[in-house]
Amino acid sequence: MQGLMMDVPLMISSLIRHADRCHSDTEIVSRTVEGPVHRYTYHDAHVRSRQLARALSRLGVHNADRVGTLAWNGYRHFELYYAVSGMGAIVHTINPRLFHEQLVYIVGDAEDRIVFFDLTFTALVEKPAAACTGVKHWVAMTDRAHRPQAAIPGLLCYEDLIAGESDDFDWPEFDENTASALCYTSGTTGKPKGVLFSHRSTLLHAYAISLPDTKGLSASSSVLTIVPMFHVNAWGIPYAAALVGCKLVFPGGALDGASLYRLIEAEAVDSTSAVPTVWMNLINYMQQNKLRFSTLKHTTIGGAACPPAMIRTLSDEFGLRVMHGWGMTEMSPVGTINAPKGKHRGLPADARFQLSLKQGRPLYGVEMKVVDFEGRELPRDGKSAGNVVVRGPWVLRRYFKEAGGNPLTPDGWLPTGDVGTIDADGYLQITDRSKDVIKSGGEWISSIELENIAVGHPSVNEAAVIGIRHPKWDERPLLIVVKRPGADLTKEALLAFYEGKIAKWWLPDDVVFVDELPHTATGKLSKLTLREQFKDYQLPGC
Ligand code: AMP
Repeated sequence: MQGLMMDVPLMISSLIRHADRCHSDTEIVSRTVEGPVHRYTYHDAHVRSRQLARALSRLGVHNADRVGTLAWNGYRHFELYYAVSGMGAIVHTINPRLFHEQLVYIVGDAEDRIVFFDLTFTALVEKPAAACTGVKHWVAMTDRAHRPQAAIPGLLCYEDLIAGESDDFDWPEFDENTASALCYTSGTTGKPKGVLFSHRSTLLHAYAISLPDTKGLSASSSVLTIVPMFHVNAWGIPYAAALVGCKLVFPGGALDGASLYRLIEAEAVDSTSAVPTVWMNLINYMQQNKLRFSTLKHTTIGGAACPPAMIRTLSDEFGLRVMHGWGMTEMSPVGTINAPKGKHRGLPADARFQLSLKQGRPLYGVEMKVVDFEGRELPRDGKSAGNVVVRGPWVLRRYFKEAGGNPLTPDGWLPTGDVGTIDADGYLQITDRSKDVIKSGGEWISSIELENIAVGHPSVNEAAVIGIRHPKWDERPLLIVVKRPGADLTKEALLAFYEGKIAKWWLPDDVVFVDELPHTATGKLSKLTLREQFKDYQLPGC
């Protein structure tokens, strides 16, 4: 017997329509590429999204067509999210930090018909435009006054495109499993692969991340979206914001410490999310200038392991509620968030701090287990480390165009490529990525743990640990460090700092000081580049 409730599909357009009806005057604030700060409301965003949907139809965009974006976080990008998905097409967010060849490949693989770009990326677009023959129009996301003088075929301008359109457009209703957005993974090996989200997966994920033990979003919050909208849909915030009706603040391209601090203060931001590298710059800026937040209360940190020293600084020095989270593009992206339970209230401060370092509990909807190499589930004892596999309604089943074949295990779980433990309370702790873990004499050394200790040293700004070939042990850890400006630190002093914190055989075999570490297009440490740079490195005594 079937239940007798309505079968209303979960549509992305229903989010912006809801925000317009219930939060029509709530603000969306954007720092723009053109200069001034732009302010409008959910009502305005809804009107313009419908105008844009009509304009796209006029340009011949149909169901399932891909529309690319090369843009910072801002109101026009937000309108594209809703207009493109809402009309039944697919918004393909492209990472502007990709190289020319990668860009041409991704635009071609996605078969983008139109690409929208922020003015910052005019030069970036000019070169590949001719090579991307499938793209019929390139649209500069600006007004006529700022239209770039560039040799780009089929160049249009956003404001001209929508200016003549009415907003008389009814969002169509269709199968909630229809594709809505496409995002390519960083592709640490092989070609980048597309992750294709659906209306249903996006809505369920938006619900889950709004809950109190996740982002805890509400109509009274002012939320800054630091995570780029080209990095897994800014972790879902543009959707969840419309769902709850919070004030939304977009930083544009200014992601340095000073700009972010000023924006947080000016817009009374109380909640944000960012990767550790962004926080590192913001913390440095605030410490150098002896600043404090007056409104910010909450941050989620993920995308890479958040070092304990960072959690300590943000919570003790800046008074923030820090929630460590874990996920991946293939998971929309949020899988776990760290929030304490009622029973943890009485825990001594140090035990609570130790708990907060873990990557957190799975959101309802995400099933997770750790398995050994034969795929056998390991105990949930917080000690048995294995490969983390996941399943759930916002977890990838196949890559776009079935690239790479079937990624799932025979029993239907997605291997994440991460190694970790799960404890009896369900908290996940990531010890490493399977390709970053250092295999020494048949045992594993966690590169994340060694990095976390290094950045706990007051003279260290950033650290990476990679495995270097070793004739006897197979691999041994090399620590690569960026010192804090003006810091005086020797290899011996840094290695001595590890004493008592790890087993002796985990101690890095050598330390190299560098001016900066390489990062991927999404701002994470690029171990791939480091392994390449240090592939001929000779460890002492080898
Ligand atoms: P991406 O798909 O680019 O977002 O990368 C996903 C990968 O980032 C995961 O598979 C993890 O290896 C890593 N990652 C994300 N969050 C965390 C975290 N909190 N701690 C450790 N690694 C993380």
